[in-house]
Parts: sequence; C-alpha cells; structure tokens
Amino acid sequence: SAVIVAIDGPSGTGKSSTSKAVAAKLGLRYLDTGAQYRAITWWMITNGIDTDDPHAIAVAAGKPGIVSGTDPAAPTITVDGLDASGPIRTQEVTSKVSAVSAVPEVRTLITELQRSIAASAEGGIVVEGRDIGTTVLPDADLKIFLTASPEARAARRSGELRGKEATDLAATKEALIKRDAADSGRKTSPLAKAGDAVEVDTTELTLDQVIECVVTLVEE
Ligand code: C5P
Repeated sequence: SAVIVAIDGPSGTGKSSTSKAVAAKLGLRYLDTGAQYRAITWWMITNGIDTDDPHAIAVAAGKPGIVSGTDPAAPTITVDGLDASGPIRTQEVTSKVSAVSAVPEVRTLITELQRSIAASAEGGIVVEGRDIGTTVLPDADLKIFLTASPEARAARRSGELRGKEATDLAATKEALIKRDAADSGRKTSPLAKAGDAVEVDTTELTLDQVIECVVTLVEE
C-alpha cells in the first residue's frame, strides 16, 4: 500500500536533501511544497501584484497554474507552463514568500493541490514543508520534524547560496530567523510540529546520518 511520509521543519535543516534522498532510496514520489509557495509568489511578483496587500493576493490566488513534477531524481515546477525552478530561488522571492503564503486563500488552494498529488502518488510519497503533518496530511504514516541550531541552519543556507548570490553569514542568519518567525507566527497553519511527529535534531548529524535515520523510521 502507498506509504505517506510528512517531513516538516524550518529552513536550513536539510529538509529538501533528506526528503529527496529518502524518496529515491525507497522508490517513493517526492513533493517540495515550499517550491509551490515560491512559485505562486514568483507569479504575483511578475504580474505586478503587491505582495504586501493580502486582499490583492487573495483575489489573484487562483490564477496561476502550478504543476509539480514528483520524480525525486529530477523534481520540476512550472507556472502556466513555464519552468519556474530557477526564478523561485531568487532573494526577492525568498524575502516575499512568507507574506504570500500567510494568505488563507493561497493556503487553501495549495493545500488542495498537495492533497490531490499525494492521493494520486503511486507507491507513496515523501512530502516536505511546514504544515504537512499538522494540516495537509494529518493521517500520514510517518511524520518527521527536523530541527537544527540557528548557527547550523545559517551555515547550511549560505553554503547553498555561495556562488549564486553574494551572502554573508550574519545576514543569512538574520533573514532565516525572520522568515521562520513569520512562518511560525501566522494564523493559518503555521510552521509547527505535529503531536505525533518524531523530532530529529540534525545539528550534529551529517546528511547521510539524517537520511539513514528517516529511512529506518519508515521501514519500522
Ligand atoms: O521550504 P522553503 O524554504 O522553500 O519554503 C519557502 C516558504 O514557503 C516558507 O518560508 C514558507 O513561508 C512557505 N511554506 C509554507 N508551507 C509549507 C511550505 C512552505 O508556508 N508547507
């Protein structure tokens, strides 16, 4: 039967790398829900919607057609047929995604999309995000909540960004803490650990150790 794994946590905990690797190892599909919120944010920016105006965002929320490809070896994301995988990683999108994803109409639409993708994933799926275990898939077979110290998370993030955009560690840490605070503080399905989630602190672990830990939990 199809196994559903929910992996939540703040940014810089290794969520994406872990989720992709676990899905590939176990022959499951993979869904990056952050990429979907980034894609809708990118569409708002390119279509001149004021991302500080929740009403304008709510009115436009249903317009972009977001499609996620769920192969863990080559995940894709398109908006109205356009490849969005590059543009969704820019500093501009990253700085505006929390505001856009706090709008209830956005969450309702994206949550429905996520549930339909999970329901049709043959063999099962690993879904990563902020509210998967609490809201999107409360009946998931396994829920993981990844954490790490702010220092470790900032170091990982700036490692990922190096070469792409000029970054310094202090600024990265500040931006990351600000985004987590916004994601944890919003009213509708905030970043949160489900009561029945297994918490894994990745601060002192290598990526391979985290992957091994999650694979073991799925197989138990
Ligand atoms: O995981 P990633 O850092 O790409 O997520 C980008 C943003 O999307 C988060 O900071 C959060 O605002 C939003 N998000 C969310 N719910 C999810 C996944 C991501 O609100 N399930």
